[in-house]
Amino acid sequence: RDSWVSDSSDSVISSGSDTEGQVYKVVLLGEQAVGKSSLARIFGGIEDTHDCEEAGNTYDRSVIVDDEEASIVLYDIWEQDNSRWLQDQCMKMGDAYIIVYSVTDKASFEKASELRIQLRRARQSEDIPIILVGNKSDLVRSREVSVEEGRACAVVFDCKFIETSASLHHNVQALFEGIVRQIRLRKDSKED
Ligand code: GDP
Ligand code: MG
Repeated sequence: RDSWVSDSSDSVISSGSDTEGQVYKVVLLGEQAVGKSSLARIFGGIEDTHDCEEAGNTYDRSVIVDDEEASIVLYDIWEQDNSRWLQDQCMKMGDAYIIVYSVTDKASFEKASELRIQLRRARQSEDIPIILVGNKSDLVRSREVSVEEGRACAVVFDCKFIETSASLHHNVQALFEGIVRQIRLRKDSKED
């Protein structure tokens, strides 16, 4: 696979093996059809014109953020066979979470809040990086959730926020860079 170079910055994301030993597990959460798999495929460097119908996938990549390499495994398995057991595992396993809703689907936004609460319950005292993502920002006419609502929700839930468009590849790299920076911040503050 080719390396993926962003159009918005000079960072390079390339497929690669884990050299440092440290691998960060990042888990995608969110309602069906909000764009989790689309975001994951962009991260994985897979340029599909058609929609894949696979229920679950993991993507293993090295990313260079702020001149430092980080190995990420991205799990797009939340909806895989919809088993309670798997979803419990998802809540336990992540070093960081990406909670996705669609800005065109109010119900998915409400579901995102539920997921945030579920996550907090599952990981009580832990300070895990979470980014709330409002995807499908390109669908201006069918928008049901404003940027302000998204941002306000992130403030309440004490997490980061970004709007993306998987279709336009807008802010997708910024999202994954953001998650790496969040993980590093927590890690550094723990080591101090
Ligand atoms: P998932 O169920 O959360 O994994 O969502 P998918 O990635 O399968 O996407 C569901 C549908 O939304 C597909 O038809 C995608 O092509 C479409 N989709 C995903 N992201 C975007 C986006 O940013 N903009 C638009 N317009 N459509 C999107
Ligand atoms: Mg999917």
